[in-house]
Amino acid sequence: MIQLVLATHNAHKVGELRTILGGALEGIELIGYDGPEPVEDGETFAENALIKARAAASFTGLPSIADDSGISVVALGGAPGIHSARYAGTRSDTDNVELVLKNLGSETNRAAFFTCAAALVVPASSREFVELGLWHGSILTEPAGPNGFGYDPIFKPAGLSVSSAELRPDEKNAVSHRALAFAALMPVVRRELLPG
Ligand code: IMP
Repeated sequence: MIQLVLATHNAHKVGELRTILGGALEGIELIGYDGPEPVEDGETFAENALIKARAAASFTGLPSIADDSGISVVALGGAPGIHSARYAGTRSDTDNVELVLKNLGSETNRAAFFTCAAALVVPASSREFVELGLWHGSILTEPAGPNGFGYDPIFKPAGLSVSSAELRPDEKNAVSHRALAFAALMPVVRRELLPG
């Protein structure tokens, strides 16, 4: 079996990714990463995903995948963007959600989108790849729903009448930014790692 390191400490993302990757992992053993976390000082989702995948690849010597993601609110000039995890300064999902609602106030343009950059770094060939996935929608006026994590309770995906925290995990994992980014990356992973 080819080993592939998943460079994330976020238990929620690991769970989502194991489901999303599903059948695309045939012949590949996905292993966790407990090495040092790099400083994410990139200016884009893609740069930060590469920084995380490179750190895991150089620590383990194995091919590594990582993602960087966040929500961009159009009327807030794209904030929280790459700062999504720490927007309120506390790393608390509830604080982040409250701050987006406060900053957006009664603004009528509530357009927003999630972005996920999914990166693969292969030390043996020194090759690097990044794929992006976007999930468009809008910001609700108050949180709704128990599922998901982060900004899911205030994100209403385009074309749906519920928040992404009201979707079942399998429903979210079929359409999310993370699903789209990894659907694009997994054929690359298979082509780069598997023989023939
Ligand atoms: P990262 O771990 O550095 O990629 O930070 C991602 C942050 O963006 C998370 O902590 C969440 O606040 C937010 N985020 C990313 N993806 C999602 C999602 O699928 N639902 C809700 N929030 C998300």
